[in-house]
Amino acid sequence: MTIADKPNNSKNVESIYPLSPMQQGMLFHTLYTPESRMYFQHLSCTLQGSLQVPAFEQAWQRVVERHPVLRTAFVWEKRSKPLQVVCKSVKLRWTHYDWRSLSSVEQKEHLETFLQVDRTQGFELNQAPLMHFTLIQIAEDTYQFVWSYHHLLIDGWSLPNIVREVFTFYEVISRNDDLYIKTPRPYRDYIAWLQKQDSSKAEAFWREKLAGFIAPTPLCVDRSSANYQPHSSYREQEIYLPESTTAALQSFARQHQLTLNNLVQGAWALLLSRYSRESNVVFGATVSGRPPDLIGVESMVGLFINTLPIRVDIACEAELLPWLKALQVQQVELEQYAHTSLVDVQGWSDVPRGMTMFESIVVFENYPVDESLQQQIANLNVHDIRSLEQTNFPLTVVASPGKQIHLKISYDTSRLDDSAIARMLGHLQMLLTGFVAKPEQYLSDLSLLTEPECDRLLFEWNGKQADYARNFCIHQLFEQQVECNSDADAVTFEDRQLTYGELNARANQLAHYLRSLGVGVDTLVGICLERSLEMVVGILGILKAGGAYVPLDPTYPQDRLSFMLTDSQIRVMLTQKSLLPQLPAHDAKVLCLDSDWQTIALSSSQNPIALSTPENLAYIIYTSGSTGQPKGVAIAHANVTRLFAATDAWFDFSDRDVWTLFHSFAFDFSVWEIWGALIYGGRLVVVPYWVSRSPEAFHELLCQERVTVLNQTPSAFQQLIQVIQTEQNLSRDGNLVLRQVIFGGEALEIQGLRPWFDRHGDELPQLVNMYGITETTVHVTYRPITLADLRENKGSVIGRPIPDLQVYVLDGQQRLLPIGVPGEMYVGGAGLARGYLNRSELTQERFILNPFSNEPQARLYKTGDLARYLSNGDLEYLGRIDNQVKIRGFRIELGEIESALGQHPSVLQTVVLAR
Ligand code: AMP
Ligand code: MG
Repeated sequence: MTIADKPNNSKNVESIYPLSPMQQGMLFHTLYTPESRMYFQHLSCTLQGSLQVPAFEQAWQRVVERHPVLRTAFVWEKRSKPLQVVCKSVKLRWTHYDWRSLSSVEQKEHLETFLQVDRTQGFELNQAPLMHFTLIQIAEDTYQFVWSYHHLLIDGWSLPNIVREVFTFYEVISRNDDLYIKTPRPYRDYIAWLQKQDSSKAEAFWREKLAGFIAPTPLCVDRSSANYQPHSSYREQEIYLPESTTAALQSFARQHQLTLNNLVQGAWALLLSRYSRESNVVFGATVSGRPPDLIGVESMVGLFINTLPIRVDIACEAELLPWLKALQVQQVELEQYAHTSLVDVQGWSDVPRGMTMFESIVVFENYPVDESLQQQIANLNVHDIRSLEQTNFPLTVVASPGKQIHLKISYDTSRLDDSAIARMLGHLQMLLTGFVAKPEQYLSDLSLLTEPECDRLLFEWNGKQADYARNFCIHQLFEQQVECNSDADAVTFEDRQLTYGELNARANQLAHYLRSLGVGVDTLVGICLERSLEMVVGILGILKAGGAYVPLDPTYPQDRLSFMLTDSQIRVMLTQKSLLPQLPAHDAKVLCLDSDWQTIALSSSQNPIALSTPENLAYIIYTSGSTGQPKGVAIAHANVTRLFAATDAWFDFSDRDVWTLFHSFAFDFSVWEIWGALIYGGRLVVVPYWVSRSPEAFHELLCQERVTVLNQTPSAFQQLIQVIQTEQNLSRDGNLVLRQVIFGGEALEIQGLRPWFDRHGDELPQLVNMYGITETTVHVTYRPITLADLRENKGSVIGRPIPDLQVYVLDGQQRLLPIGVPGEMYVGGAGLARGYLNRSELTQERFILNPFSNEPQARLYKTGDLARYLSNGDLEYLGRIDNQVKIRGFRIELGEIESALGQHPSVLQTVVLAR
């Protein structure tokens, strides 16, 4: 199609010339995604008074006659470069509606619908004029006016000129008068100016500015994959800063020779840096793009505006004022290159092609159309001026000056949800308010969080700091069960079992014997046993003696066991005869719970007099260490007893429950398994090692023993599901009487539960995801899993902290991060370990002072896990920030393996990955 086919025939052509880079970009985007109507603009306002419609239409006609760019169409087909064609004359299209019979609510609704429908119609870009007008009468003396036009023609900075001219003409025409205004410079002069610019200077400037910047700064508050919306649509939210803040910002800017634009950009840079935890951020900024050396440029009408990257360093030791000034210098410097096309800039940067350079832009609107109008028209009241535009960036911040600074964020709802944007506006306001509150401050001192958000993060979702029973030792709770349940089965292994009375008696004998060997309060006693009844007797005996057990899993490598023995300086060790030959060298006194039992059994079977208090140690569990050596986590009795008290309401555990000891006793999930059974009077089934490795055999055991509480890593449960789903097993479904299935130890891959939910829906057993860490005593958070979670893919949601724990999501400076922003998880409260055995430096590094607590001794454990709070107070787990991995629930520091490999003389360098 050519211009000649159209009503604008060749005789009607006034001039033809190329497009500016910005126009090229817009044309490309418009043609590439025609359905998006990205650059379809509306200017609307209400006109009140005795509007003379013909005079109003004529006024527009006159303005369009004065500005060639308003009579422009675009041609691109069969051409290497698109061109713009200016028509000598165009016919303006007016549509009139009469909505006087509608209520004002209906009128509002109709208007919204009209604007939407109008937008979807778009324009034929090769047919001038790329605009039309709608005048809607809504009352005797009131009209709603809408000007629809394509952004290719003009930018926002042109609007005040156009609107002023329209009303000037309107006034004289309605008086039957005439008027001469000087002919403005046409847009083509700008194109000519552009063609004379030396692009090599711009290239050098941008290359230097963007060197080393390789990927866009992430917004970080994207919807979770859970509620991802496939279709892009845009929405807006806005706030007005109070007049007092606005005045303070204005005088602050004046006093320090800054502009409001600088302040807004500064606040945005800081916000992005806090959100992304990056100290160097890039966002886009819209510049007027009007070259100062083009005389008369201010009164020109056309598209000059440009969007260019702003790169900002945010060093936390930087002071606010000098930093803002540097930002302003950058701004001024950039003015000279403001005409460079973004496509070129992107090409000169290290950001890969096809990736956008920034996800957000800041637009500072310096063209208050409102004000330019107010002085203009005497007998016509113009209000509600709205200019609607849309960009193709996921997020656009628009700031407009005025008595009250107006901040508006328009955002792609497929990526960002409303609540995230509402909070973001609050953060922006906090930063701007913070600027003026104290100009001499460090950037790191500025706070982002609003008070309600702080309250939520510190108290509402966290702060109960409830105190649950810390007044008993673990074995004392067990002894209470012995008193009322002496004949009930306590533990089963293969075809043997012990009642509560028997288990207690044996553990007492061992405890007395251990005391005779010098075991007392906080004495560490090693225990290296295969799964057996003796293992449970051993653990209980050590606790009753007053000591703390150090589990040594006989399947662990010799070197590791040897390190643990040396590190914990164990003087007494429990084991079994068959393991003696494989124990590493040590000088502990060894007691075999099988072959030495007759000697042990000579001791009293009465409860020994309690020596330990709930604050004494109960166990040391070794976890992988990043520097090559494992570290012992020291846990007190009360940590365990309060864990059950604090979670009691969720599970309703009782003496009717049957539990499995599925996990190695060197993994702290076992602490939950053993005591969940024994302090509630339930039965503990010790799972033989080979059964724990065979999903079929384990399923058999679950049915036979009528297990009700199952604790699993999600990966182990997934294997179990496959077994449960076999035809043969489905037919004996009734034998599986699980009541609770508790996941822990690793991230939950929820889609793996699909076959389970397909069969069971939301019926029993209740599935629960619990996030936890050895250093904070097994569990930290709780979240029941439902069918809806599977549908919405919410596997990474780990719920709320246990009521006597606190979870904070903090940035690198240990400041609270906003809701929705990912950061490192820190855990505080009653579950915290005493620290690492013999590793005071590491303990200080990982267990920091709790800055949010009034108690001077309160600490937080630095987890190394990445998470964020969701709007409803649930935590979402997002992975690790370091090199720790989980393999089938085993916690492994890749650094430990690297350093072990590195010890081999012929290995120079190592990198270990989990595949
Ligand atoms: P451990 O000390 O062996 O219990 O390992 C603790 C680590 O396991 C945590 O720091 C997490 O990285 C991971 N983890 C434990 N439970 C969960 C869970 N429910 N979801 C995601 N990761 C988990
Ligand atoms: Mg754990």
